[in-house]
Amino acid sequence: MTTLDDLPIRDDLRGKTAYGAPQLDVAVRLNTNENPYPPSPALVEDLARAVRQGAATLNRYPDRDALDLRKDLADHLGHGLTARQVWAANGSNEVIQQILQAFGGPGRVAMGFEPSYSMHPIIAGVTATRWIDGAREEDFAIDEERAVRVIEEHRPDVVFLTSPNNPTGTALPLRVIERILAAAPGMVVVDEAYAEFARTGTPSALSLLPGNPRLIVTRTMSKAFAMAGTRLGYLAADPAVIDALLLVRLPYHLSTLTQAAARVALAHRTELLGTVDALRAERDATVDWLRQRGLSVADSDANFVLFGKFPDRHAVWEGVLERGVLIRETGPDGWLRVSIGTGDEMAAFRAALEGILG
Ligand code: PMP
Repeated sequence: MTTLDDLPIRDDLRGKTAYGAPQLDVAVRLNTNENPYPPSPALVEDLARAVRQGAATLNRYPDRDALDLRKDLADHLGHGLTARQVWAANGSNEVIQQILQAFGGPGRVAMGFEPSYSMHPIIAGVTATRWIDGAREEDFAIDEERAVRVIEEHRPDVVFLTSPNNPTGTALPLRVIERILAAAPGMVVVDEAYAEFARTGTPSALSLLPGNPRLIVTRTMSKAFAMAGTRLGYLAADPAVIDALLLVRLPYHLSTLTQAAARVALAHRTELLGTVDALRAERDATVDWLRQRGLSVADSDANFVLFGKFPDRHAVWEGVLERGVLIRETGPDGWLRVSIGTGDEMAAFRAALEGILG
C-alpha cells in the first residue's frame, strides 16, 4: 500500500496530520462553535428559490468579483463601508489563506498570540510563512507592552489578533489593537469571527479602518449568522488590500450558488442574528454554572466557553462523550471548550459533566 511517505511531498508537510475536529454522530454536538438553530422553513424556501434561479445559469461562470454580494456585505457591516472595501471567499479560512498568500510566503513572518485559533499557524505553514507565537498572559489577555516588544524584535509581515479569541473567548480592547497597529511594520489582521457575540459595548476593529490601510478585519457567516454550511467568509479593508488579494485568488472562487445563498441569508439577517441574544444569555449562565462548580472559566465574549483545569482532560472529554455530548479537547493542557447550544443541549451538557464530577 502506498503511504504519504512514498510520495514526493514537500519536506515541510512530511509527518503532519490533517487538521479537524472529530465529526461524530452524537446527539448533542457542542464542538465547532456553530449556531445550533437551523434556518426557518421560510428561509429554506427562499434559499431553494435562489438556488433554482442560479441553477438555470450554471453553464456560465459566476460573477468573478462577487460585486452584488460584496455590496450587500458592506451594507450589512455599516461603518460607511462600500463594496470596494469588502472581499468574500469560501469561509474566513480561505480569506486568511489569501491574506497570507499575498502578504506572507517564503522568507516572511506571521505572528499570533497563542492560545488562539490554530488555523492561523497552520495556514502560515501551508503558505511557507514562518510563524512566531507572541504568547498571551496567564489570564489569556495580551499585554500591550510585551506585544509591542515581540513585534519590534521579530518585525512580522502579518500579525493576527483574534477578538473575541478562540478558544479562550477573550475580547481585546481597541486600545491594544491600536498600539499593535502602530508598532507593527506590516499587515494587522483582526479575526472577528465571533464579534456578534461580544458583550454590548465591545467595539469592533471596523471602527479603526479609516486611515489604517494596513488593517484587515475578517468576519464569517459560519457562527452568529448560522450559515456554516454555506462557507462564506469576508473581510473589510482598504481597497488597495483587495487589489492585492485579487492577485492571489483563484478565478471564479465563489460559486454562483454560494453567492446566491449568502445574499438570501443577508436578506434574512434579522431572523438569523435573532438567536444571538439567547446564545449570549446561555453563555453567561454556562460561565456562572461552571464557576459555581469550582472550575476555572475564561471570561467569554464568544459563543463558547473554555473551562478547566483537569489533571486528565481527555478522560473528562471522553466521559462527556459517553453521555452523548461532544465537546472539544482544545486550548492549553487541562482545559476543555464547550460551544453554546440550545437550552436543552446545555442542560444535557451540565448533566453529563455532573455525572463525571459527581
Ligand atoms: N476564525 C476563527 C477565530 C474561527 O474560530 C474560525 C472557525 N472555527 C474561523 C476563523 C474559520 O471559520 P470559517 O472558515 O467557517 O469562516
